[in-house]
Amino acid sequence: MEDCIFCKIVRGEIPARKIHEDEDTLAFLDIHPVAPVHFLLIPKQHIESLSETDSAHQQLLGKMMWLAPRLAAAQGCQDGFRAIINNGRIGGQEVPHLHIHIIGGKNRLPAMI
Ligand code: C5P
Repeated sequence: MEDCIFCKIVRGEIPARKIHEDEDTLAFLDIHPVAPVHFLLIPKQHIESLSETDSAHQQLLGKMMWLAPRLAAAQGCQDGFRAIINNGRIGGQEVPHLHIHIIGGKNRLPAMI
């Protein structure tokens, strides 16, 4: 997608502090971290949100879920982390390109629910 900020990061048109890249996914540090560890894991292909996925995306979604704890551990979150997907307007999604927030690095994150 031409104007999507995360697609621009994928294409290298705007900078990001990348921590992982493969043919399908990219992970980079969030520019406004809410915890000592806060990075985003995204698919390289433009998928607007979790709601916009279909059965063809199952393998990609599985790969992202498989990657999340491994990348988190590599960032120092061996004892746990939080994975958040904001989805759509009500879910507070600001960037319309699917992304998983991986947050950790504190002794214990505050309970959310
Ligand atoms: O889930 P949501 O869409 O609200 O979060 C978008 C996230 O993308 C924010 O945490 C923001 O700091 C991050 N971001 C980034 N680099 C950009 C633009 C946004 O890390 N260039």
